[in-house]
Amino acid sequence: MKAITVEPRKPGTAQLEDIPEPDVREGSVLVEAIAVGVCGTDVEIVEGKYGWAPPGKTRLVLGHESLGRVVDPGQSVGLKKGDLVVGIVRRPDPVPCPNCAVGEWDMCRNGQYTERGIKEIHGFMSQHWRVEPEYVMKVDGSLGILGVLLEPTTVVAKAWEQVLAVGQRSFWEPRTALVTGAGPIGLLAALIGKQRGLEVHVLDRVESGSKPELVRALGATYHTGNVAGIGFEPDVIIECTGVGQVIADSAQGIGAGGVVCLTGIGTGGRTLGVSTADVAASVVLKNNVLVGSVNANKRHWFKAGEVLARADRKWLARLITRRERPEAFMQALHREADDIKVVIQFSEA
Ligand SMILES: [Zn+2]
Repeated sequence: MKAITVEPRKPGTAQLEDIPEPDVREGSVLVEAIAVGVCGTDVEIVEGKYGWAPPGKTRLVLGHESLGRVVDPGQSVGLKKGDLVVGIVRRPDPVPCPNCAVGEWDMCRNGQYTERGIKEIHGFMSQHWRVEPEYVMKVDGSLGILGVLLEPTTVVAKAWEQVLAVGQRSFWEPRTALVTGAGPIGLLAALIGKQRGLEVHVLDRVESGSKPELVRALGATYHTGNVAGIGFEPDVIIECTGVGQVIADSAQGIGAGGVVCLTGIGTGGRTLGVSTADVAASVVLKNNVLVGSVNANKRHWFKAGEVLARADRKWLARLITRRERPEAFMQALHREADDIKVVIQFSEA
């Protein structure tokens, strides 16, 4: 079968190649791939900056934002041939740590977790893949190819859960939310904010194109410029850019008692005119919490499925701005100006 593979930590090694069909030891559920979403992590792996092959192997099958159709339900309960499914990405560490032991692999303490398509387990960019019954999620059949948005939605389903859990430390009824960054994660964070009944604002650099339109179509307000320029202090900020200046501005621009959830991962950069102590002083004086959030556990995968099932299909469809064939995977990995989510399509949904 055809698969997109890479030798991790070696730039220029990604290729579409023939590999053997997946081994039954990888899971009793056999799935035919429909589509796999591409994100910044895939680009980093292909550029040789990140990623680990399975033990004893030199190459890794890429891809962690999956969607496929069940060919053989194997030992699963409740799945049948033809169901649309998505594979969960992370597996608990083998020790396991206390969090992995209770199924919270997203909160792993020792970092020895593994991840499909990223860390030591083959991903989903192959014509067929297998998955263990306990790590497969069925998606609403009416979503079709939009089910490929499930994995990025799990990330923000967890982020929102973290915000609301932290908020319970005091009397707190959040009314307004700001999302920084209108990429796929930011737009899906805004979707959840609207579904939860909040007044949602989204801040991004671009001034035209589909991002402002998608935000307005949600019934949310679009802003460009900086956090201080939005004109009010939000109760919640979901930070999706990973840019130092935006993070510092968010920590200072959040309302009293408000929660900033950091989901973006950046490096370096300079923050102008503000020191860590200035940011900390603001956080202290307004009783704020800055909470980091990564990955998702099964509860978030389930909630994300509910979020997508309730969402407007036409709106979701506009998030997928490009579909590429497996042969053109390098084009899929290359970001174009108005890209939101690019997917590699293996078969029809
Ligand atoms: Zn763990």
